[in-house]
Amino acid sequence: MSPLSSLDRELLSVNDQNRISDIQRSVVSLLSESISSCPLCESTRHSEYETLEHYGIRLTYLVCGNCGLVYQSPRIPETRVPEFYESQYRHLYLGQAAPCEQELQVQRKRASHLVDFLVKNKCIPTYHLDIGCGSGALLQATHSRFNCRVVGIELDEAHRAYAIENGLQVYHSLEAWRSNEIGLVDLVSLSHVLEHLTDPVTYLIRIRKDILGRDGYLLVEVPNLYFHPSLELAHTFALSLTTLRNVLHKAGFELVHHKSHSVPRSRLLPLYITVIAWPGEDTMQYPIKKDRYSRHRRKLGRRLISIEASVRRLWAAARRRYTRALAKLPIRLKL
Ligand SMILES: [Zn+2]
Repeated sequence: MSPLSSLDRELLSVNDQNRISDIQRSVVSLLSESISSCPLCESTRHSEYETLEHYGIRLTYLVCGNCGLVYQSPRIPETRVPEFYESQYRHLYLGQAAPCEQELQVQRKRASHLVDFLVKNKCIPTYHLDIGCGSGALLQATHSRFNCRVVGIELDEAHRAYAIENGLQVYHSLEAWRSNEIGLVDLVSLSHVLEHLTDPVTYLIRIRKDILGRDGYLLVEVPNLYFHPSLELAHTFALSLTTLRNVLHKAGFELVHHKSHSVPRSRLLPLYITVIAWPGEDTMQYPIKKDRYSRHRRKLGRRLISIEASVRRLWAAARRRYTRALAKLPIRLKL
């Protein structure tokens, strides 16, 4: 085990410095890139949004003074991102590399909801590319519902292997995918992926210009900054509907449908944002709309989530007491 660098010590809380695992230690050493200007509008005006600890690692998020984008700084640089996702991400988050049943259930519920959203908005694909496909639940769901061709991109070896074992065509990267099929794809999905990218605008421009057909569409789902905890190690950005729309516009996409919801969780409040966007013309210029009062909205949203959780706990306790009381009644009174 190598000694902690000065940067490591700054990023770790004192209590955690003694009990940090090998994985945490290696992740901390990756957080080496400070961001001096907004990744969306390039403004150098920013202020601290939140500082927190995630898996014992201190994270800082900044908010752009011009457009309101919330972004992580310092963060893992682009060149080290594959290393993080290939060997550390799922070990740290899930404690293991291979997909577990709980994760698979979440992915299946999420996939079913995304397919329903496509159907409702009359987006019926013939060829679906899912970037960050995980175990392949969304690809299986679209293939099953639309009988379309499907292909996935997944960095994580264990999840890629699981998807391939289940009959799916999944590649390590876009580069590894057969380039002669580029242009045929009419649905590209990024479900809980965009917030992980270091340069989402450039990535989306590449999808629009090089991968998606002119009549294709983009399906994106992200955590909702106003309600979801959202600020965590793997999230380079934390997006609201306004800043997500700005990112899509900057990349030349037009947001045509959106929905805020809590699926797959059984919450009432909108933890996630799902959107469908279409590629616009190269010459189109969309204005950037400032995300105002972001801190206040997040504070209110997180407070409402907390209240909702308390009400749920009280309701569950009341039901348990009622059930116990009912069980103690004589049979004839129950009838
Ligand atoms: Zn900005």
